[in-house]
Amino acid sequence: MVIYASIPQSSDRSMLDERSQKLSNFTQRHIGANSNDIQRMLDVLGFASLDALIDQTVPQAIRLNKPLQLPEAQSEYAALAKLKKIAAKNQVCRSYIGMGYYDCITPAVIGRNILENPGWYTAYTPYQPEIAQGRLEALLNFQTMIIDLTGLEIANASLLDEATAAAEAMTMSYGVCKNKANAYFVSCDCHPQTIDVLQTRAKPLGIQIIIGEHQTFDFEQPIFGAILQYPATDGTIYDYRAFIAKAHAEGALVTVAADPLSLTLLTPPGEFGADIAVGSTQRFGIPLGFGGPHAAYFATKEEYKRQVPGRIVGISKDAQGKPALRLALQTREQHIRREKATSNICTAQVLLAVMASMYAVYHGPSGIKAIAENIHQLTVILAAGLQRLGYKLSSESFFDTLRLELGTHSLETILVACQARNINLRIFDATAIGISLDETTTPEDLIDLWQIFAGKDDLPFTLEELIFQSSHLSLPRQSSYLTHPVFNRYHSETELLRYLHKLETKDLSLTTSMIPLGSCTMKLNATSEMIPVTWEEFGKIHPFAPPTQTRGYQILFQQLEAWLAEITGFTGVSLQPNAGSQGEYAGLLVIHQYHASRGEKHRNICLIPQSAHGTNPASAVMCGMKVVAVACDLEGNIDLDDLKAKAEKHSHELAALMVTYPSTHGVFEEAIQEICAVVHSHGGQVYMDGANMNAQVGICRPGDIGADVCHLNLHKTFCIPHGGGGPGMGPIGVASHLVPFLPGHPLVGRREENISHTQHIGAVAAAPWGSASILVISWMYIVMMGAAGLTEATKVAILNANYIAKRLESYYPILYKGKNDLVAHECILDLRSLKKSANIEIDDVAKRLMDYGFHAPTVSWPVAGTIMVEPTESESKEELDRFCDAMIAIRQEIAEIESGKMDVQDNLLKNAPHTAESLIAGEWNHPYSREQAAYPAPWTREHKFWPAVGRIDAAFGDRNFVCSCLPMEAYSS
Ligand SMILES: *Cc1c(COP(=O)(O)O)cnc(C)c1O
Repeated sequence: MVIYASIPQSSDRSMLDERSQKLSNFTQRHIGANSNDIQRMLDVLGFASLDALIDQTVPQAIRLNKPLQLPEAQSEYAALAKLKKIAAKNQVCRSYIGMGYYDCITPAVIGRNILENPGWYTAYTPYQPEIAQGRLEALLNFQTMIIDLTGLEIANASLLDEATAAAEAMTMSYGVCKNKANAYFVSCDCHPQTIDVLQTRAKPLGIQIIIGEHQTFDFEQPIFGAILQYPATDGTIYDYRAFIAKAHAEGALVTVAADPLSLTLLTPPGEFGADIAVGSTQRFGIPLGFGGPHAAYFATKEEYKRQVPGRIVGISKDAQGKPALRLALQTREQHIRREKATSNICTAQVLLAVMASMYAVYHGPSGIKAIAENIHQLTVILAAGLQRLGYKLSSESFFDTLRLELGTHSLETILVACQARNINLRIFDATAIGISLDETTTPEDLIDLWQIFAGKDDLPFTLEELIFQSSHLSLPRQSSYLTHPVFNRYHSETELLRYLHKLETKDLSLTTSMIPLGSCTMKLNATSEMIPVTWEEFGKIHPFAPPTQTRGYQILFQQLEAWLAEITGFTGVSLQPNAGSQGEYAGLLVIHQYHASRGEKHRNICLIPQSAHGTNPASAVMCGMKVVAVACDLEGNIDLDDLKAKAEKHSHELAALMVTYPSTHGVFEEAIQEICAVVHSHGGQVYMDGANMNAQVGICRPGDIGADVCHLNLHKTFCIPHGGGGPGMGPIGVASHLVPFLPGHPLVGRREENISHTQHIGAVAAAPWGSASILVISWMYIVMMGAAGLTEATKVAILNANYIAKRLESYYPILYKGKNDLVAHECILDLRSLKKSANIEIDDVAKRLMDYGFHAPTVSWPVAGTIMVEPTESESKEELDRFCDAMIAIRQEIAEIESGKMDVQDNLLKNAPHTAESLIAGEWNHPYSREQAAYPAPWTREHKFWPAVGRIDAAFGDRNFVCSCLPMEAYSS
């Protein structure tokens, strides 16, 4: 019997042994190349060892010349066992806390086939729509669902959470309102975390927040907008029509933060005059997860379509005239409009929006309505019983949430009884308690609750006696919703399973081939990292559960914070920001607060290199800063003279420099320390955009280099999957002088008790630790890799990028290189000359790659007309070679156009991607064969990924803007 089929050649053996001794087994599975491959790639580059390559790539002065202090690497099995022990320290209780978070049931077919399915969760943001029609359709369903439920005209494809969605609504209102007011009314009946996030956001923009009761607000002070909660945070259903009419008379826009489940029974905001509706779709089948990730929604009127934050999926047509989906309007507007962008939202919550939409597809309108009615009915019965027990309801009009006046009853006694039964309620104050029911609540739960409030098990009534109660819903809904066939045809599990699979197979994810997205680090999302995400001990915890029940999470946070601090060379870490953009915003606010604490509030200039990611200027503007662009030199580095001149010129007002390292041009700038020193010498702080941390881990550290703050995209460097455009996490690390200013949260004290709480910047996200449940992924990654593994990954990521650059440089010029002609962990291929020589645009190459079974690299960013390739450490040499072979073959196809052998208009690139349908079209009158079109490389014969639609006409869709499901006839014609 052959046990080891592939024992390495003896000559490789010693090296292999040495490497495998150093690295954990998991590391060797996480990294795509084995020792042989690494040696072969080094040979091509002319280096004797990986370390020799790194020595030539990374400036000596910034090298970290000691191993990271991290725990020793564990196997998958051991790491999971260790995490299970930590998880066991969390206590799963029944939660009736509400406040925008409700337990719910994830339909198993959705849990397994989406949340636990790499075909869905490893996909990238759908910038290449021809190979992303599946998730685009699911997102279009999401938008349709939101439009139907809110009664508004358009909706986007998700935002990060309800509180930040409310903040986006506020800033959009500020932008579009014409009445010149600078005050915003916030109802005191909004959820407290929403109010806090609004205050944080308003402050640097000079917006005055007026918190008050909507019933008594007199509009004496002009406002540009207002936000109301529906139902209110204490459960009351208010009729807001009179308020909205008055606000409109003043020219103000009104946002309603609404629970989408309640909207199946209540008059939707769009029907009573709201201009914007926001909220969370968490209770549509998404686990609580101690705060996230969940998809927020944002709906408004069509007249504001160009101001909507985040991404909107729209319908257009493909080359054959068939309906096809793609991101509409302001998709990449941050990169184009920079500091004039309407918002900094980039990564959102695609995977969760997909799940929520499928919850609606699964249950259909009558199923969802039945869930809502059942919850309401139970709430009504609960209320009747509590009244029989002598408690007073604060309001007679409610959906699923009661506020109880305790009167002479003791809060203490009630809480003790709750604890004994593992039940959490919301405590308003010593005299009032809140109870929110949800999809999981049963009649037996009501008995438990009554027994708690009765103070004894023997109740003076039975459940049966109370069953016949009438509704307490004011403002009942008359209009229909979810009438589109998609919400009415997949109600058997077989049908739904096939629908999910059909959509999944339209999308190219990491399950098909590498996604070499520059700056986005599409590395392995290992199964063992993903497993704990769906453990109940992490999933079934309410974000405002008492700390005594979340000890496991606290350990996880403490460890992860300490490790990220070690990896970045910083003192403090905040895990609150739930995307990179939010980390930028939080980090800049921290800098602002630091300056203010030193009496230098006036420092408001933010220097940003031209090459920066578009979120950088957009975030700076959100912090009330003025953006001053810094030029780059011909090598792609920051132009040091220009930097010095601008820092000098704005010396008195300099707040910060935002710098990405290695640069977005894919180079380790030699002058980085000097750059930091220049900024410091003028009193500014250095914000490092850590999106490129995959080139730094274990080799150098932002804190050592001279940065003061840095965000990490855990969904890039630390293995959280992209989910098709989210979720993500963007924690920030800061140097010691900035620790006191890290984000706080109204409902949870900061763990560092010795820190003055008065100085923090407030909340930047709805939940205290952002999308807490996906932090387990990064925890697992670090534990399984260990210091040696993480460092090796960085080195191999750099090797892979240099290998690709080397193999392709004679076909496509590499735009920027570092000192020794080496790139960092990504490289930019310059395709600009092809426009002149063959009339080939960058998109033609991107689309032709689809015919070869690949996702295009980053297109036209950071330099128009180029593509940026980031292979990551996880791809094998075979895969890198396959990608290079495809790029080289495409170059040869272009050469045929250049030489006149192939038509300039009618060719393999211009007509790409080729769908199966377009190839069997009766007559074939292109100057190339069907075979050349569909099977250009040997591997496509063995396994062919077919684009679902032909080249999409994006401009057509923007001219004829549609962002909800088309009637079915549109597809048959
Ligand atoms: C991805 C990225 C960001 C934004 O991060 P999100 O998580 O998408 O908000 C910022 N800067 C750079 C350089 C990036 O690559």
